Amino acid sequence: MSFTLAIVGRPNVGKSTLFNRLVGKRLALVDDQPGVTRDLREGEARLGDLRFTVIDTAGLEDATDDSLQGRMRRLTERAVDMADVCLFMIDARVGVTPTDEIFADILRKRSAHVLLAANKAEGAAADAGVIEAYGLGLGEPIRLSAEHGEGLNDLYSQLMPIADDFAERAAQDAPETEVEIDEDVDFDEDGEEIAATPVPTAAKPLQVAVVGRPNAGKSTLINKILGEDRLLTGPEAGITRDAISLRIDWDGTPMRIFDTAGMRKKAKVQEKLEKLSVSDGLRAVKFAEVVVVLLDAAIPFEQQDLRIADLAEREGRAVVVAVNKWDVEEHKQEKLRELKEAFDRLLPQLRGAPLVTVSAKTGRGLDRLHGAILRAYDVWNRRISTAKLNRWLIGMLEQHPPPAPQGKRIKLRYMTQAKTRPPGFVVMCSHPDKMPDSYTRYLVNGLRQDFDMPGTPIRLTLRSQN
Ligand code: GDP
Ligand code: GDP
Repeated sequence: MSFTLAIVGRPNVGKSTLFNRLVGKRLALVDDQPGVTRDLREGEARLGDLRFTVIDTAGLEDATDDSLQGRMRRLTERAVDMADVCLFMIDARVGVTPTDEIFADILRKRSAHVLLAANKAEGAAADAGVIEAYGLGLGEPIRLSAEHGEGLNDLYSQLMPIADDFAERAAQDAPETEVEIDEDVDFDEDGEEIAATPVPTAAKPLQVAVVGRPNAGKSTLINKILGEDRLLTGPEAGITRDAISLRIDWDGTPMRIFDTAGMRKKAKVQEKLEKLSVSDGLRAVKFAEVVVVLLDAAIPFEQQDLRIADLAEREGRAVVVAVNKWDVEEHKQEKLRELKEAFDRLLPQLRGAPLVTVSAKTGRGLDRLHGAILRAYDVWNRRISTAKLNRWLIGMLEQHPPPAPQGKRIKLRYMTQAKTRPPGFVVMCSHPDKMPDSYTRYLVNGLRQDFDMPGTPIRLTLRSQN
């Protein structure tokens, strides 16, 4: 996963000029149809050896009247929420304007990483403006000339550490094709490996996606968590209801929450947008560490719910199932039994995932949801020592010996945990190709139960060793 950079700032400061310079002809997506509010351009950028996605908020007229100001603000907020890093651009020849101050304010509140660029900085005429830019309190301005290609080195050196950070995270999250055994493990005095769950911090908030079919109550839930009406609803809802993310502190846990409320609603506009919207949802799941599948208690486990839950599992995310609108449920006990039964039957791949009942409307159950998210994250990061695993394996083999296809018993020799996020295990065995799926499932279910790992996908790979 590479990172996404949004270039933001008032009209005419030179955002498009920089965008074009970074992207060249590699424009991935242009959608400037009026009325569909897709006025963000996205492209694949290159800067030295860096590759990243860049979003441009250009295409706005000068915002003089109120409606345009509002539109500009919303568009910028959306870009900020989609991005990992924001490059805030001012015009060094003009200096800092009141509109720039408004932007700076949005960014300070909403973005994790902000870089500041003073553009049009070729020549001495820009000196005063560059100095003024320091006053924005967003760090040292990059002296840039997008038009003449000056200052790109400075931009590069400010982006480098961020890119490294993302590369590191991508390495942790990489889907396992070939399993590497992770040697980088700490041991305690008994030779047991120490399992340390990374704690979410402000710099690395826990990434949560809230997914579910339209009307499940995703926006209501997120609004309730936020405690304010920040996600817009009403006629202009389409504008903000894409996959966007919000940085919040939920009962002391820093989180970045992805809302995919618009995922399907928007799809009605046209086929092309449907693809974009679905990929937004997909992106939210890919980005998330914990996926909250929000169901409507009145119509749980619809096709769309099942598909997204399955997707989250295949992507290796921790999953929490939340059943919403519990306030209107009359026969709660009976309903809960039904739900659990349906869950195990319809989503066996997520067996044991936490099922929490909530009311987004009244706020009931949100504490439990918070707890379930943290626990799921913890399990997802779980590391089990090799010694424990092999003791466990012996017991499993005794209880239920592996099959002997064509009279040759498959021998399971040794097992280790190769990765976390989600937990991945490697079993060395003879004839891995002959191992029936049922036996692999027996091991996976056993791991889940004996090591108490609900709500996370568990990967088990067989490797040949005679
Ligand atoms: P945007 O509205 O922020 O996307 O701004 P544009 O990229 O459309 O640029 C606005 C104007 O500023 C254009 O006329 C550009 O040619 C000009 N411009 C952009 N970058 C520079 C620069 O580095 N130096 C100078 N002198 N002009 C620039
Ligand atoms: P979204 O499409 O998933 O974002 O769903 P919304 O948040 O827009 O909610 C859809 C409808 O369900 C709205 O009319 C909400 O008021 C209602 N709703 C959401 N949560 C609850 C809840 O916990 N209880 C009840 N009774 N209604 C809810």
